[in-house]
Amino acid sequence: MSVVARAGVVYLVGAGPGDPGLMTARSLELIASADAIYYDRLIPPGALDGAHESAELIYVGKDSGESPEDHARENEARRSTVPQSETNARLIEAARAGKSVVRLKGGDPFVFGRGGEEGEALRAAGVEFEVVPGVTAGVAASAYAGIPVTHRDDASAVAFVTGHEDPEKDETALDWEALARFPGTLVFYMGVKRLAENAAALIAAGRDADEPAAAIERGTMEGQRTVVATLGTLAEAVEREGIGAPALIVVGRVVERREELAWLERRPLHGRRMVVTRARAQASGLAVMLRGLGAEVVELPAIRIEPRIESEEVRRAVEQIGEYALVCVTSPNGAHLLFEALGNAGLDARALGDGTKKKQVGGERSSATAMTEAAGGAGEGSEPEAPSGAAGAKGQDHTGTTIAAIGLGTARALAEHGITANVVPERFIAEALVEALANVEIEGRKVLIGRAADARDVLPDALRERGAEVDVVALYETVREAPAPEAIEGARSADYVTFTSSSTVRNLTEALGDRFPCGARIASIGPITSEAARDAGLEVHVEAERHDVDGLVEALLADVTR
Ligand code: SAH
Repeated sequence: MSVVARAGVVYLVGAGPGDPGLMTARSLELIASADAIYYDRLIPPGALDGAHESAELIYVGKDSGESPEDHARENEARRSTVPQSETNARLIEAARAGKSVVRLKGGDPFVFGRGGEEGEALRAAGVEFEVVPGVTAGVAASAYAGIPVTHRDDASAVAFVTGHEDPEKDETALDWEALARFPGTLVFYMGVKRLAENAAALIAAGRDADEPAAAIERGTMEGQRTVVATLGTLAEAVEREGIGAPALIVVGRVVERREELAWLERRPLHGRRMVVTRARAQASGLAVMLRGLGAEVVELPAIRIEPRIESEEVRRAVEQIGEYALVCVTSPNGAHLLFEALGNAGLDARALGDGTKKKQVGGERSSATAMTEAAGGAGEGSEPEAPSGAAGAKGQDHTGTTIAAIGLGTARALAEHGITANVVPERFIAEALVEALANVEIEGRKVLIGRAADARDVLPDALRERGAEVDVVALYETVREAPAPEAIEGARSADYVTFTSSSTVRNLTEALGDRFPCGARIASIGPITSEAARDAGLEVHVEAERHDVDGLVEALLADVTR
């Protein structure tokens, strides 16, 4: 494992307020290299995705007493409450066992995060520790709500206050008189449950009941909500709007700045719920773009890639790979799996003759992003979909194996394994590849097509017609995967369902059946996908003019402002 996280050291790491983009670079590199990660409930979604596959991930969250509904949503393991003393003991034990340990907490570890207590316990036990600050909710949720916690005209100071003290403490440590006099913004953490009492105490101690105040729910996360009122009326407003934890209370004149500074709600796709249907690895590009524009994204992958490289046909093909005059790879997944299969046979790129050294003789490279309508489809196992006039290969001005990639994504995947594809058609579909291969001499020669199990036969048929001896091997299979129930539930109220290939249309409509969100507008990446959607009985409302992810996003943006 990497040496970033040192053995025997505990890192007290802040994970930020909830938006995964607000995690620090340091937190991510430590998460990626730690042997053990002890995490809290309030960490961003996907925060542990980068953890090493052999890392132990241990939930040690505590019931804050703030959000019963949050707990109902958690799974059994997460519902339990781990006492602080036990957390301390476990951290010490893990470090003494020689592990590198990350203690991951929401926001900043030293801001109402008990990081101080943990640090003291580690120090007392003689365990080395480091602290990695995080973006604290008081600053981040306010910023996302368009409330600057300080402002030259309104607030020269800001106080972070707990609104919910340790129930084990006998006396309140909060000096309401001092807080009432405080010359600046008051930011209450854990302040929803006792909001009415706390506001009353502040007012009784002399703070103006008419002072602007706000509650920010789920700050920086999807579905963030902000309620603005006055100190005197906020509790009632929060009750009425059903604001729950995690939420932050801000009291101060700065709250009025929100009128001008609220930016989150003004993003083009704010408040739109969009379903992304690609297989998870592929979903991210589109999901990230949509989230960046303010959409709430529900990922609903209905398929999964299942490698098939242990099969006899793949083994045979790999063993004789040097004998093929032409090797065609039809998707990035296929490219990676072909090299995994080569590796399993103790081979590498050199097995492809001098194909590694040849210059690119393929058609003009398209500048489109790798994820096009067809590339997306191919990635999921369907073979690319329609023809085009790609500039063909200039024939075999080289010896050894010619390598053809169906699209830029596939070519890029090959490049990761040290192979420059000789032929890349301009459009990423099987028919285009057939055309691009027009000048490659294949009559009477052996050709290998490595692809998905359930692909179309356009390419092998065309090459056989030209007299090639074609071996088609399935490198992987796309298997249906029942979408998670929560995702299906989340999709119910979707405003849009996006489709990036015909196979996802078929898979998703079959997987959902009558649970398909019928109120949603259907957005398709291009005509072939649209046709599949219509075949599945859907009306297509939006079709991208450019058949790649950027084009789809453009079309969605145009549609929301229609
Ligand atoms: N260490 C954390 C705070 C932990 S206390 C930090 O630095 O942010 C937990 C309280 O933090 C919650 O009750 C809530 O008041 C606040 N909080 C945490 N995340 C929040 C979020 N995303 N939006 C609003 N408040 C949040």
